[in-house]
Amino acid sequence: MALNPFEMAKKQIDIVAEEMDLDPNILPFLKRIERSLIVSIPIMMDDGTIKIFEGYRVHHSTIRGPGKGGLRYSLGVNLDEVKALAIWMTWKTSLLNLPLGGAKGGVCVDPFKLSKNELERLTRRFTAEIINIIGPDIDIPAPDVNTNPQIMAWIMDTYSMQKGRTITGVVTGKPVEIGGSVGRANATGMGLYFVLQAMVEKLSLDLKSLKIVIQGFGNVGGSIADLLYKHGCKVIALSDISTGIYYEDGLDIEKLLAWAKQGNLLKDYKNDKYKLIDNDELLTLKCDVLIPAAIENQITEKNAEKIDCKIVLEGANGPTTPEADKILNKKEIYVVPDILANSGGVCVSYFEYVQDINSYFWKLDRINEELKRIIIEAFEETYKISEEKHISLRTAAYIIAVSRIAKAIELRGIFP
Ligand code: GLU
Repeated sequence: MALNPFEMAKKQIDIVAEEMDLDPNILPFLKRIERSLIVSIPIMMDDGTIKIFEGYRVHHSTIRGPGKGGLRYSLGVNLDEVKALAIWMTWKTSLLNLPLGGAKGGVCVDPFKLSKNELERLTRRFTAEIINIIGPDIDIPAPDVNTNPQIMAWIMDTYSMQKGRTITGVVTGKPVEIGGSVGRANATGMGLYFVLQAMVEKLSLDLKSLKIVIQGFGNVGGSIADLLYKHGCKVIALSDISTGIYYEDGLDIEKLLAWAKQGNLLKDYKNDKYKLIDNDELLTLKCDVLIPAAIENQITEKNAEKIDCKIVLEGANGPTTPEADKILNKKEIYVVPDILANSGGVCVSYFEYVQDINSYFWKLDRINEELKRIIIEAFEETYKISEEKHISLRTAAYIIAVSRIAKAIELRGIFP
């Protein structure tokens, strides 16, 4: 049985609380969820039948600002998963020192089984159901697994129609034509790249000579693969939902991306040199950098012993369980934690939100420059604490994030 992600998120809090001697009065605050909304979403399907889906929006913490976090459409979505993802968003925004909290949402649905019209109706009805707990100064959703700029555009439109005026700042990850930010689509990949560069430098390695394995070929996996390839790095294995593919001399990412862009799966890609491998083989391949960029619970106590790399760079949220973390630490593998590694997405979401509120838009150079500055600052701070205290990068990142939340709780006090 895979570990329940909410239990896993709470376990991670316990680990850091012990490490930093946290005030026992603060601990329950970190583990509790501010509010969870479960909604039913009835949809008229194209064939005239009615289907009912379940959706969720969870605010873990708004102590440092409005809730922030993505919305995912997947059959794996349930309340506990969304709660865990919301908790991880709190740490992520805090680690980057953004004036935002942590939230997440999702709908339990297989979006690939819906027509475009059904997907639009689902999105609009879901938005209407959660309308009272989202808004530019309440909670700002964004894309996540299986959601995209078009879906964000429908959310923005539905919200605006209900409020009687255009409110672009209700959601981030929108198309640039309607208040989106340049650079947002590739921001998570860009952040991963900056962090990997910095990590590789600390270890005195040469990025171009490293063998890289990526699990996932969606927005995150695809964009980091693209960036690495364009910078002359070697991705030796890659996977999507259908299969993994492996080629020791390095995959042709440009061709694979073009293939995936047309809606094709990797299992149907024809290249005699490429070997098909399963998920377990992919994760345990001998390489230098392993980038899990799919979903949570991928590196567990079952396969952690067999992981054979120098750096794990967490593109996904929660890909490594606490038990696996212990094993990887013992093996002296550097795990660059999700809340740092993949925080480029929410960082540029924050820029988008700021641009929307100010009605003044930045050029790509400024986006990438400020992203690099913020993410590298968080990386350096995390790395320093991890070296000084001889603790993992994850625990170090959590210490920074949790300290900021604890300070905010202390300063604001308890109402009434
Ligand atoms: N879904 C992304 C994440 O997990 C982005 C969230 C956002 O931009 O608000 O970090």
